[in-house]
Formats: sequence, structure tokens, C-alpha cells
Amino acid sequence: MNVIIFGPPGAGKGTQAHYIVKKFNLYQVSTGDLLRNEVKNKTDIGKVIENTISKGDFATDEIVNELIKKVVFDTQKKNKLIFDGYPRSLSQAKNLNLMLYNSNQKIDFIFFLNINKDTVIKRIEKRKILEKRSDDNLNTILKRYDTYMETTRPVLDFYSKNPNFYEIDGGEKIADISTKIEQILSV
Ligand code: AMP
Repeated sequence: MNVIIFGPPGAGKGTQAHYIVKKFNLYQVSTGDLLRNEVKNKTDIGKVIENTISKGDFATDEIVNELIKKVVFDTQKKNKLIFDGYPRSLSQAKNLNLMLYNSNQKIDFIFFLNINKDTVIKRIEKRKILEKRSDDNLNTILKRYDTYMETTRPVLDFYSKNPNFYEIDGGEKIADISTKIEQILSV
């Protein structure tokens, strides 16, 4: 099965994706991780996006789609994908549909982890101390949240009509969210 998990920064997408990966033997596709990796390895892409990411802006669709393509067409990972942080714009969502179609796959479950801004701020402040992510300062967080809400709203509209779309309150306890997701995936 292929799963999309999306929601604003700090909603717990990464944590939940990680949990589902282990439970259902899937492969986590985090565009944030893929992009941070490019920066860390100082690749050509990494040099282009370093500033963009640290300001809280989105990397271009061209760059992100290119990184995603390698994973979607990897036969080892076929039908075992959980997308975390992708798609984030309507054009990315359409591109993903096309790539899945061309690789004879589909999305089986879509989870939207919804969370309000105050809860996000509290959570990311905590993560900043624990993980020391360079894009985790308050201004960046607020910008990322706003950018996300603006750009991702059309993605929400695009997927919410799908019968396999589930909205989950991201403000609930991590373990409770995991249980809910697991129940849905186990049906
Ligand atoms: P994340 O780890 O998902 O919170 O992503 C961290 C940062 O990477 C975001 O704030 C964006 O700057 C960038 N990023 C991650 N995923 C995408 C995407 N699908 N499209 C564009 N930029 C992205």
C-alpha cells in the first residue's frame, strides 16, 4: 500500500510516518529529509536550496519532483511508500498522480494531520531543544506554517474528496494518533 501523510509543520507527520513504516514495513519518503540531505552533502541542489529552506520557503517543484522521481520508480519500494511532506502544492499532487500512474501504482490512504498554530509553536520549541534543526527558529516556524497553509490548502481540497481521505486531530497525544492511523490501515 501507498500512503500520504500531510499537515502543517509540527503536526507530527514525521513521527507518525516513522511509526507506520515500522508497523507496516513501508519506506518513508520525506522530502524535508531528502532536501536536508542534499544540503548536508553539499550537492548542486543542496547549494541552491540551502537558503530557501533555512528561510522557511519551499524548494521549487522541479527540484522536489526530481528527488521524488527516483524513489517512486525504485522497484524495491513499489507499493511500500509513505509520503511525508509531499505533495505540498497542487502541482506536486498532480505530478505525483502522474508518476504513480506511470509506475502502475496508486495512493491507498491519505491522512491529514490538522493542528493549530499555537500547538505547533509549543511543539517545535521543544523539538528545537531536542533535535537542534537549523530551520527551527520561531520566525521560520511561523513562516513555514503560513506558507504551508497557503500553498497546501488546494492540496487539501484536491484530496479531501477521495474516499480514502482521513482528517486527524494532530493536537491529540502521539500514541492516540498512532492507534487511530493503525486501525484505519489495518482494515
Ligand atoms: P519538513 O521536514 O517536511 O518540515 O520540510 C522542511 C523544509 O523543506 C520545508 O520548510 C521546505 O522548505 C522544504 N520542503 C520539504 N518538502 C517540500 C516540498 N514537498 N516542496 C517544497 N519544499 C519542501
